[in-house]
Amino acid sequence: MSIAYIAQGLGLKKMGGEYKGPCPCCGGNDRFHIKEGRNATMMVHCRYLCSYASIMRQLEDLGLVDKEPYEHIGPTADQVATMQGDKMVMAIYNADKQAGNKQSLADYRRHKLAVERHKAMAPQEYQTNYN
Ligand SMILES: [Zn+2]
Repeated sequence: MSIAYIAQGLGLKKMGGEYKGPCPCCGGNDRFHIKEGRNATMMVHCRYLCSYASIMRQLEDLGLVDKEPYEHIGPTADQVATMQGDKMVMAIYNADKQAGNKQSLADYRRHKLAVERHKAMAPQEYQTNYN
């Protein structure tokens, strides 16, 4: 599903970076705008102020968007784990830096990654040698 697909389904016209035309909720000629926001989000606007929820419901009913609303799709469990891991790496890096560690952040990340990989490949050895 894409903005262009929705625009085609609604018969909207492309105007610069956005599409406009009749609102799926209240009609009209050019009161409805749709464009791509940051991170592939969809931005919709009706000049007659139809709510985002009612517009999305309408698009769902027309089969132009998936039933799951865009904004409810958060990061996956894997992405959350990566972000949390990243925060942890940053926290350790900053603590080490304050303690006089001169490693660059890139070196530090490489080191962390190497330790993680080693741990995953040889858990027994890891236990023996590092703990
Ligand atoms: Zn409207």
